[in-house]
Amino acid sequence: MIDNKGKNIRHVKNINRHVILQFIRDNGPITKVEIAAQTSLSFTAINNLVDELIREHLISETGYDISSGGRKPILLDINPDAVYTVGVHLSASTIKSAVINFRGLPVVQEEAKFDSTADRDTIVSRIIQSVESILSKSKLPRERFVGIGVASPGPLDPNKGLILSPPNIPGLASVPLRDILQDRFGMTTLIEKDANVMALSELWYGAGRGLNNMIYVDADIGIGSGIIFNRKIYQGFPYGAGEIGHGTIDLDGPRCNCGNYGCLEAVASGMAIIRRAGEEIRRGVGSELAAKYFEREDAVDIGAIIEAAQRQDPLAVNLLNESARYVGIALANVINMITPESIVIGGLLVNECPDYFKQIKGIALSRCFATFHKDSMLQPSELKHQAGVIGAGTLGIEQYLSNG
Ligand SMILES: [Zn+2]
Repeated sequence: MIDNKGKNIRHVKNINRHVILQFIRDNGPITKVEIAAQTSLSFTAINNLVDELIREHLISETGYDISSGGRKPILLDINPDAVYTVGVHLSASTIKSAVINFRGLPVVQEEAKFDSTADRDTIVSRIIQSVESILSKSKLPRERFVGIGVASPGPLDPNKGLILSPPNIPGLASVPLRDILQDRFGMTTLIEKDANVMALSELWYGAGRGLNNMIYVDADIGIGSGIIFNRKIYQGFPYGAGEIGHGTIDLDGPRCNCGNYGCLEAVASGMAIIRRAGEEIRRGVGSELAAKYFEREDAVDIGAIIEAAQRQDPLAVNLLNESARYVGIALANVINMITPESIVIGGLLVNECPDYFKQIKGIALSRCFATFHKDSMLQPSELKHQAGVIGAGTLGIEQYLSNG
């Protein structure tokens, strides 16, 4: 029987293990002396945990540092192939899947289109197929895998592993996807809201490395966000945090998919930009984009608008600026409310249009409370279109480490 003291000792040891692994992953190759200098752990604790991690093949000795006299210090680094996870990123049109190594790099990956209006069984079998396919492509034995992580559009209940009622994939409503995959593949499976997972991957491997508290904003066809608090996804109580896209930003704005009016998503998302492009084309504004889609404005898509903006087409540039203004103001409110160490912004619009990010940053910093103004507070995503699939795989690694 383990008493409370025993439990606490084990808990502290797990935290220390996590600190060392995280530190080596972020800074390796690195020596024990450097770990001791930059963490609050004692040299004895570091010695014991390093020996344990080497025995478990999670880290290894990779060479020697330059000596300042005496024995050369040994360099430690993580073993990228110590364990693997499967990451699945589900969006309204594609299933991305990848095998992620312990360093967070996809070793094999694939992307399949699917019909998001299909029925439950069809969609679930496409997801199963994508996991089967990536596992067999990797040629790795099953025992090397420590879990499957799924990033899915919300709303979902991560604690029950249940997808609730995603407006863009209606067939997945009330599907217990976690248990379905867990039973099928015999691996620990976790599901999480897509933007939360992207936040986690930027924290571990991208623009949020080394931070404790940050927010990720996904400016894509929809708009979502994920909050990281003390290096963990902040889910809300019991879940549902981060729905920045459904905060009202225009009191008289158009109706949103969620049923509310004037949501950020309804006025600034990729969907909103497409709708606004149609309105402007019908109004007959002068622009190459408008001329190309004149009398067939229903055919304009976000790719065409982004391409036109990259060529400085005035209509496309104006539409992106209009969107950036709303997003920037929404983020100024977030800065005032939460003051995170950083807000990382990704998604199609930011990844493809660097000017869009600059606009958002300028507006957010000029509209937030001046005391909190900090130039480094807003950063573009580093992992870009891979943030979802890498983050999904990271869910499995995070779970594995916290159980270790
Ligand atoms: Zn809404």
